Amino acid sequence: MRKAERAAATRAAGKLARTCPECGAPVPPERRTYCSDPCREAHERAVVIPRRVSGRVAAMAEARANGRDPSHGGAAAGKRAETLAARQSARREWETAHPDVDLDAERERFAREILPGLQGVPIAKIARAAGISTTYAQLIRAGIYTPHPLYFARLVDLLAADGNK
Ligand SMILES: [Zn+2]
Repeated sequence: MRKAERAAATRAAGKLARTCPECGAPVPPERRTYCSDPCREAHERAVVIPRRVSGRVAAMAEARANGRDPSHGGAAAGKRAETLAARQSARREWETAHPDVDLDAERERFAREILPGLQGVPIAKIARAAGISTTYAQLIRAGIYTPHPLYFARLVDLLAADGNK
């Protein structure tokens, strides 16, 4: 077979064999990857976004282990260290002000009561409401990071405001 024919055959076979990665149903010819929008959204939420985000986290961790950070340098690194220190002291302050809070129980409450509600909320909105970076907001919404309980009240307020629209 000539090269062009082989390519056409591969394309045809690919078209026939396509199944939705979310539900396994055949993908209609007018759609590219998924059988439907709900399947696309469900699959992206469950698989694609967490994979993308955890890939980025792994790359950042590796860069840091090697003593470099590809995304930040010089003044940005200094400012980031400052932000980190401010965040840590905010956490300590919150824990001192709430001595009776069981942090583990709070984190479980987050997964149960807050995280599901965040799924439909845009990253930028979460970041703004909680006063955190969009990267951090993305990790939180994807369920990879659980934020410190000091952020919970702001997120609950955000969801309440969203629900009242
Ligand atoms: Zn499907």
